[in-house]
Amino acid sequence: MTSIDPRAIVAAKRDGETLAAADIEAFIEGYVRGDISDALASAFLMAALIRGLDPDETLALTRAKIASGETMSFTDLERPTVDKHSTGGVADGVTLVFAPLAAAVGLAVAKLSGRGLGHTGGTLDKLESIPGLRTDLTPQEIGRQVERIGCAVAAQSALIVPADGALYALRDATATVPSIPLIAASVMSKKLAVITDLILLDVKAGSGAFMKTTEQAVALARVCLDLARGSERLARAAVTDMSQPLGDAIGNALDVVEAVEVLRGNRRGRLRELVVLFVAHALVATGGPPLAEAVVRAEAALDDGSALERFRLMVEAQGGDPRVVDDPAAVLPRAPVVIPLIAEADGTLAAIETEELGLASGALGAGRMRKGDPIDPSVGMVVRAKIGDRLQAGAAIGEVHARDEAAAAEAARRALATFTTTEGPVTPPNLVHAWLDSEGG
Ligand code: URA
Repeated sequence: MTSIDPRAIVAAKRDGETLAAADIEAFIEGYVRGDISDALASAFLMAALIRGLDPDETLALTRAKIASGETMSFTDLERPTVDKHSTGGVADGVTLVFAPLAAAVGLAVAKLSGRGLGHTGGTLDKLESIPGLRTDLTPQEIGRQVERIGCAVAAQSALIVPADGALYALRDATATVPSIPLIAASVMSKKLAVITDLILLDVKAGSGAFMKTTEQAVALARVCLDLARGSERLARAAVTDMSQPLGDAIGNALDVVEAVEVLRGNRRGRLRELVVLFVAHALVATGGPPLAEAVVRAEAALDDGSALERFRLMVEAQGGDPRVVDDPAAVLPRAPVVIPLIAEADGTLAAIETEELGLASGALGAGRMRKGDPIDPSVGMVVRAKIGDRLQAGAAIGEVHARDEAAAAEAARRALATFTTTEGPVTPPNLVHAWLDSEGG
């Protein structure tokens, strides 16, 4: 530990100075050890959010987080190994489908996921809505599971990037999430601590993302890819649309139901399309067939049930109730009150304030207000309307799942207020804005 008072490190960042790597490392070490309080760490995060971190500082923060725990390597498996991460969105259930689907087409996925952050949902919270399912896997358990069934989705823990686990929860509770260097260091510390053949990044752009514009999302993607390049890791990033929820389900158990539908091959739409693209790009980047053929292979694994079977194996291996695959509604927690979401006026859906939709779902109990708060896995919303859809007054466009009638009515009111409609036709936004990779481009 440096002899510098940690308050001086915060003060230096507050005043716009550039921090030495050693000071950042000492600060993170001190925080993980418990010598630095949440209050001081929050001040550090806010100073970093407002003043920014340059590439060297971002690298130092990333490395300090990695150094707080163990690292794992999966590059000597028979299958090419892939890790995938989203920067956070609404109705973003990609990982739930991606991991088993990638395993079904012959890849191996070893993935550390996060919890809900701000208005966005978290894969761990979604998975843990399956009774019994554990995400606190040890590095050894992750290794054995990936070798045996081809996929594991686990939490960063006391053993793996614990500094990110602690800072992630603190950022959620202190309005210090939307910062390019803080997001990049958070995402990439988890990706660099787990050594795989390929890192795939889903960098979200739009009203439901932390990066509201495509330009900001491209900038975030570049910082993440620079960190990958600095560690000589192959990475590819897609900047994808988050101007509306990706899937329909905005909650936790509700997202699992939707993921199972996609894994059954029963559900078309943007969530399926994006997962298929990610799996296909992973195949291509790890020496597989050309893109068009890879897409066909991924689609076939959804339609023939092999991805669903991998999901069953993954759930079972992590202690969850595998019957979730056959009858999700019977296994998953259910909210006591379900009301329909009814369109208020005729018109074409032109825009959605997607962050507000995520917050409205969070207020039902699907997200956290304070660090460490429990979430209610059963509540949330299903919003089926997408930009470009023609809405009819009085038609049901989704549901609200709540603990009581008052909460349901308030969430429905907030959800409908996020819609902007117009008279004429509206072209839906592109699903993918750009692909970038760590070798340039
Ligand atoms: N996902 C992460 O892992 N970290 C962030 O900061 C945002 C999204």
